[in-house]
Amino acid sequence: MIAPRARSALLRILGDRIRFDVPMSRLTSLRVGGPAAAVATPADRAELMALLQLCAGEQIEHLTLGAGFNTLALDSGFEGVVVQLNRFRRIEERPGGALRVEAGVSHSQVTRFCVQHGLAGLEFAAGIPGTVGGWLAMNAGIPDREMKDVVLELEVVSPTGRHTQRFPAAELHFDYRSLRGLARGSIIVSALLRVTPCESARVQAAVDRLLSRRASTQPLNVPSCGSVFKNPPGDFAGRLIEASGLKGHRVGGAQISPIHANFIANTGGATAADVLALIREAQSRVARSSGAHLHREVRIVGGAEE
Ligand SMILES: Cc1cc2nc3c(=O)[nH]c(=O)nc-3n(C[C@H](O)[C@H](O)[C@H](O)COP(=O)(O)OP(=O)(O)OC[C@H]3O[C@@H](n4cnc5c(N)ncnc54)[C@H](O)[C@@H]3O)c2cc1C
Repeated sequence: MIAPRARSALLRILGDRIRFDVPMSRLTSLRVGGPAAAVATPADRAELMALLQLCAGEQIEHLTLGAGFNTLALDSGFEGVVVQLNRFRRIEERPGGALRVEAGVSHSQVTRFCVQHGLAGLEFAAGIPGTVGGWLAMNAGIPDREMKDVVLELEVVSPTGRHTQRFPAAELHFDYRSLRGLARGSIIVSALLRVTPCESARVQAAVDRLLSRRASTQPLNVPSCGSVFKNPPGDFAGRLIEASGLKGHRVGGAQISPIHANFIANTGGATAADVLALIREAQSRVARSSGAHLHREVRIVGGAEE
């Protein structure tokens, strides 16, 4: 709940860049989730910092969301302000083989830029849907390459909006699908990523190869959040779920994908409760059938889960 006084203050800072009572199902690729009390898309860094200062002062929780491709929003919704950096969309080439990329830049925008300017190094991420902020917070990647391999520096706004700080790669702690070491509530606003000059046609060919491999192994035409679980060391979550007999299993409108068992698809009208039920069932069936514990990759937001 956002008190009327805080609501007016939010409107004063953000104008039409704040909306109230927005279904999270519209902000996440699984297309489930109850209402967020507010969704803010600040115009620039100064506005973002003013927003965070207000939230800190009024004790309103905030949550950063990229494009919601790795987020399960609960049916109970989120009582604070969802911050989206959709207006942070600049990319520029920097001397010495680097790109300065703002956090709201999308995966397709990065790929297009790299192909147009003949820059190699980020092709691996072409098929990882989302924003640069989400890529970094998740240390997104494929089996042989992750964001940590290309990050030179992050620029971060503190949780209370008081200052920005630059973190060189050596000070960051990237792990399998996570970035640790930033204070909770920090917002990545930009990153410096390593690239190398390359013929455009070769960059495009590498992107095409990766995208077509994905299209043949992943269910890309139904709403999902990609891999639900992290792969346990030396094994694959999808293989374990399939071996437990759950491939194709349904709860309500949610289904363990018949194409890739580590994906849960919203086949129509799913709720977050349906998805959560499948997550729990997969964890307990796999524990019983193989002894492995599946850890979630998807981030849960809202309610008491997070
Ligand atoms: C079909 C499909 C295929 C996928 N394949 C892959 C894959 O191969 N490899 C892989 O790693 N992932 C994969 N994913 C998952 C997803 O694409 C990645 O996790 C991606 O990085 C999510 O980006 P996003 O902007 O949508 O993040 P969101 O879901 O919006 O957010 C994810 C997390 O990042 C945080 N966050 C977002 N932006 C910021 C910011 N600016 N500052 C601080 N924190 C922030 C959020 O708070 C949240 O905790 C796939 C998903 C789908 C649907």
